[in-house]
Amino acid sequence: MTNVKTSSLGFPRIGLNREWKKSLEAYWKGKTDRETFLKEIDEQFFAALKTQLDQQIDIIPVSDFTFYDHVLDTAIMFNWIPERFKDLNDPLDTYFAMARGTKEAVSCEMTKWFNTNYHYIVPEYEKNAQYRLTKNKPLEDYKKAKTALGVETKPVILGLYTFVALAKGYETQDIKDIYQQMIPLYTQLLKELEQEGVKWVQIDEPALVTASPAEAAAAKEIYEKIKDNVSGLNVLLQTYFDSVDAYKELISFPVEGIGLDFVHDKGKNLEHLKAHGFPKDKVLAAGILDGRNIWKANLEERLDWTAELISGLGASEIWIQPSNSLLHVPVAKHPEEQLADDLINGLSFAKEKLSELTLLKEGLVSGKAAVQSQINDANEHLQALKRYGAATNTAFAEERDKLTEEDFARPTAFEERLRIQNESLGLPVLPTTTIGSFPQTAEVRSARQKWRKQEWSDEQYGSFIKEETKRWIDIQEDIGLDVLVHGEFERTDMVEYFGEKLGGFAFTKYAWVQSYGSRCVRPPVIYGDVEFKEPMTVKETVYAQSLTSKKVKGMLTGPVTILNWSFARYDLPRKEIAFQIAHALRKEVEALEKAGIQIIQVDEPALREGLPLKERDWNEYLTWAAEAFRLSTSSVQDTTQIHTHMCYSNFEDIVDTIEDLDADVITIEHSRSHGGFLDYLEQHPYLKGLGLGVYDIHSPRVPPTEEMLTIIEDALKVCPADRFWVNPDCGLKTRQPEETIAALKNMVEAAKQARDKLAQTV
Ligand code: GLN
Ligand code: ZN
Repeated sequence: MTNVKTSSLGFPRIGLNREWKKSLEAYWKGKTDRETFLKEIDEQFFAALKTQLDQQIDIIPVSDFTFYDHVLDTAIMFNWIPERFKDLNDPLDTYFAMARGTKEAVSCEMTKWFNTNYHYIVPEYEKNAQYRLTKNKPLEDYKKAKTALGVETKPVILGLYTFVALAKGYETQDIKDIYQQMIPLYTQLLKELEQEGVKWVQIDEPALVTASPAEAAAAKEIYEKIKDNVSGLNVLLQTYFDSVDAYKELISFPVEGIGLDFVHDKGKNLEHLKAHGFPKDKVLAAGILDGRNIWKANLEERLDWTAELISGLGASEIWIQPSNSLLHVPVAKHPEEQLADDLINGLSFAKEKLSELTLLKEGLVSGKAAVQSQINDANEHLQALKRYGAATNTAFAEERDKLTEEDFARPTAFEERLRIQNESLGLPVLPTTTIGSFPQTAEVRSARQKWRKQEWSDEQYGSFIKEETKRWIDIQEDIGLDVLVHGEFERTDMVEYFGEKLGGFAFTKYAWVQSYGSRCVRPPVIYGDVEFKEPMTVKETVYAQSLTSKKVKGMLTGPVTILNWSFARYDLPRKEIAFQIAHALRKEVEALEKAGIQIIQVDEPALREGLPLKERDWNEYLTWAAEAFRLSTSSVQDTTQIHTHMCYSNFEDIVDTIEDLDADVITIEHSRSHGGFLDYLEQHPYLKGLGLGVYDIHSPRVPPTEEMLTIIEDALKVCPADRFWVNPDCGLKTRQPEETIAALKNMVEAAKQARDKLAQTV
C-alpha cells in the first residue's frame, strides 16, 4: 500500500489583502520604522503557513516566503552582492538596494521567471568575489515556524544548477569554477539543516526541465558532491513548468525524492515514467493540480488519474501536490468579491487548490465513495461555469468554421501595398511617430479615480479625456511629428481596457498576483467565448483625427498579448482563445478603417514572452500566434497600413514570426541594443517597414539630436531608407510631459537632418 501525503511547493506572499505589498511600500516610504515593518512581515509569514495548515496539508514549505524575491534571497544568502552595493553595511538596506537601486547604484536586472509573469532579480556573478554562506535563511525560517507553531516544515531552497542558470556575468567555461565555489556552501547550508533535525528539504531545480542529458549529468555531480557530506537529510529534487527530457538521468540523482509536473508536461513525464520506471526507494512528488490556472479542478478525473499513477508505481510513498509554487495564483477567494456565483464557484485559488488536494488524498486513501458528494459538487460547479460562459457566447464556433485561409492573409503582397500606401498616405521619407501612449500624469490618474468612484460623471471624465487628447494633438503638431496618436489617456492598462469592453472577460477586485517585488497585477479572467460588442477605440481615435490634417494612428492591443496577460479558460486550447480574441479585434480594425483611420497599430509586446520553455515547442506556438495576429489585421484595404509594436530589441530568435505577421510596419525597442542587431540585419535584411527605437523611454534623460541621428544613420546602413521609421523605443506613459516634448523635438530634428543628408547623397 502506497502511503499518500499532500504537499505544497510554495504559497503566495502577498496576503489576502495585499498586506505584504502595503508593509513593504510603507517601509520604503519611511512611513513605518524597521521594527514595525519586521513585525508585520513576520505576521504575514505565519499567516501564509497557517492558511496551508488549515487546509490540512501534510508537508508545508518554509522559506519560499521572502522580503522581495526568492532568487534575491538565495543570492544574498551566499553573499552574491555586487561590488557597487558593498558600501552599504546594513543587510536589509543592501537587500532592498539590490532590488530597487539607490542614488549611487543601479538595481540588479529583473527578468521573467521561466515562462511565467513573475519576475526575479538576476544574480550577478563577479569573478573575484568572496562567496560564503552569510545566513541560513531556510534554517531560520524552519526554526521560527517550529518554535511558534510547533510544526515540522520543509525548507525550500533554490538549487545550484538553476541558480547559476539564472545568473549572469560569467562565461560558459566559468561554470565549473562557480560550482566548485558554491558546492561547499550548499553543503554547509544543508548540513546545518540536518543538524537541526530537518527531515526534508525541497530543492527547486526548474532549469532541469530543459537540460540535455549532458547538462543533467553535470547537475547530478553537484548533488553527488553535496550528498556525500549530508546523508541524514532527505532531499526532494523539485522540477516544474514542463517535462524533464533527461528523465533517465534525473531518476538516478542521489536524492530521496523527485518532484515532477504532470500538468504542464504535455503527458511526457508520465510517458517517461512508464518507459523507464521510477525508483522504488524514492518518493515521487506528483504535481497533479494546475498551480498556474485559477479554475477548480475536475476532481473525479484527477482522482482516477492519480489512482492509476499510484497503482502502476508500486512506490512506498507518494506526495500529491500542485504542479508548481502557488505564487502564480491569487491567495484565496475573497469574501467580498462581487462576481456571479457561477463564476466564483468555478474558481480555485491557492488556498482552495490546497483543499482540493486534501480531498483528493481522502479519495485516494479511503476510496472514491468517501468523497463522492464533494466530487459531485465540483462537477456541478464546472458544468455551471460552462453554461455561464456559454450564455454570453456569440456563435463563434460557427464563425470559426467559416474562416478560410483568406481570412488569415492580406490579399496583396507587401511591396505592392507599400507602393499604394505611399501614394495614399503622403508621408515623408523617414516618417516620425510615437508608440501610442503619452504621459499618464498625476492629473490623468486622479481624473480616472474620480470617475471610477463616481465623483465624476461620464461626461465630465469624457471631456477631460478629450481636452487631454486635444492638448497632445496640438503638442505633436507643434513638435512636427508625421503620424500622430491620440495618447491613450483613457486606458490604465493595455489589456484591461479591451477586456472590459469585450464579452467573455471578467475582472476581479481582489484576485491579485505578484508580478515583481511589491508590484501586483490582477489579470483579467477569460471565462467564455470572447465577443466583440461595440467599437472600443473608434470614438477617441476619430476625435483625435478630427483635430488634425496629419494622419492619426489607431491603437489596439493584439490577441496574443491579451491572451498572455490574462488567466485563460481551461477548456479550450490557447490557440482557439487567441483566435477568438483576434476575431473580435478584427471587427475593431474594420470599424476603425470604416471611420477613416488609415494607419492601425496592433501591439504585441507579450508575443515573445509566451514562448514555451522548450525550443521544440516554439514553432507550434509561433505559428498560431502569427495566425492570430493576421486574423485580426488581414481584412483591411491595401491602403490601410498595419503597424505592430514589440517592446524588445534583437528579435533574431523570432524573426521568421515577425516576417510572418505580415505587418506593414513594425516598431521595436532598439536604443540600448549596442549595434548587435544591426550586424544581424546586415546579414539578414528585413524588407518590410521597420522603426527602430532611437531613444530609451525608461529614463527621464533627453537624448541630444546628434545621438539619435547617429542611431538613424547607423540603421540606414543596413535598412532600406524608403521603409524606415523614426520613433522612441516604446510608449511614453511613464514619462513627464516636459522631458517627453524635449526628447521628441530632438528626435524630429534628427529625422530631418537624416532626410537632408539622404537628399544630398541621391
Ligand atoms: N501602445 C502602447 C503604449 O504606447 C504600447 C505599450 C507596450 O508596448 N507595452 O503604451
Ligand atoms: Zn513597447
